[in-house]
Amino acid sequence: MPFIPQSSLVSLQRDLTDVYGFQYWWPADSPQEVMEGAILAQNTSWKNVEKAIARLKGKKASDILSCQDLGEKIRSAGFYRQKERFLKGVLNYYVSKIENLSLPIDTRWELLELDGVGRETADSIALYAFHQHTIPVDSYTIRLLNRYFGTSYSGRDYEEIRGKLIGIFNQEQLMELHGLIDEHCKMFCKKVPKCESCPIRKKCRMNI
Ligand code: SF4
Repeated sequence: MPFIPQSSLVSLQRDLTDVYGFQYWWPADSPQEVMEGAILAQNTSWKNVEKAIARLKGKKASDILSCQDLGEKIRSAGFYRQKERFLKGVLNYYVSKIENLSLPIDTRWELLELDGVGRETADSIALYAFHQHTIPVDSYTIRLLNRYFGTSYSGRDYEEIRGKLIGIFNQEQLMELHGLIDEHCKMFCKKVPKCESCPIRKKCRMNI
């Protein structure tokens, strides 16, 4: 697999920032809302998640946990019975850790033990809710790296990619990088890429 030099990843981040500007990710008003979004966004589009988030907006975690019709409130996000269970799991974690001020230095490993929390969800929460030094490696990230650098990463390389990125970027840069990749893959590097109009095509291996 081609080696990706550190300077090339830094250059990609810079080029994406030049094109899209600062992303200020994650789109949420509080750590609790990040956690809700990370669960609700599993296997669905953000558009569907927004409706569910709006129904939970401003509610205390303890109130959501005792809500009798939580499933109905989050129905638009799909798999709502399953997500109701997962959501209660992370909110219980939030209440026990945050309200008791006992957040561990690395929440990722504790989050990974919760029902329905995989690496992508755990890293999203750890990065955006708790500002820890990690990054979710989603399908957009793998797609862009493979096309742009000519690598052949898959989901099995999650930890390798994550390790590479956290070895180069600081926590604030990682927050931005994930948002930038998401934006670029929604706009241009789609499943069927729009390379002719892509603003970063000059350095992309797909076009060399
Ligand atoms: S040139 Fe095409 S493959 Fe490369 S980053 Fe742009 S859209 Fe993706």
